[in-house]
Amino acid sequence: MTQPNLPLTGACLCGAVHLHVTAAPLLTLACHCRDCQKLAASAYSLTAMFPANAVTTTGELVLGGLHSEERKHYYCPSCLSFVLSRLKAAPERVNLRASLLDDLTWFTPFVEIMTEEKQLWAKVPAPHSYARFPTTAEELADLMDEYAKTIAPPPPPSPGTGPA
Ligand SMILES: [Zn+2]
Ligand SMILES: [Zn+2]
Repeated sequence: MTQPNLPLTGACLCGAVHLHVTAAPLLTLACHCRDCQKLAASAYSLTAMFPANAVTTTGELVLGGLHSEERKHYYCPSCLSFVLSRLKAAPERVNLRASLLDDLTWFTPFVEIMTEEKQLWAKVPAPHSYARFPTTAEELADLMDEYAKTIAPPPPPSPGTGPA
């Protein structure tokens, strides 16, 4: 797992919505829930979680999904690409649909959630796996800490010990 080169950019399928991200991801996830299977038209959704203040979008976004108060899903109104989600309980974070980013070479799911609803053939190489999802703020904070350490650039070699 590596740190992406910043800024990260991305776009919906038609290009009406553009993404610009200036901070490293807080966590990467795959969600196997049945809702995500329907929203993503796939076996699971891919999320890159970022600090909300590091994410800028240009172009109009419209609400989609279940229009719940707790969890708002935003889409491009033209091509209907699933762009991002905001959770009422965590306004300081934004969940981007990772597949919209231009560069995905750095992306590997660090956590997979909702495996109790997963397609039987679906395999995700995430080091952390949850039948449902982390339930406490501490658990989530620990995952983000560990992820930050995992993607941190290696320390520079000390003088004299590296290859010549
Ligand atoms: Zn679009
Ligand atoms: Zn889901």
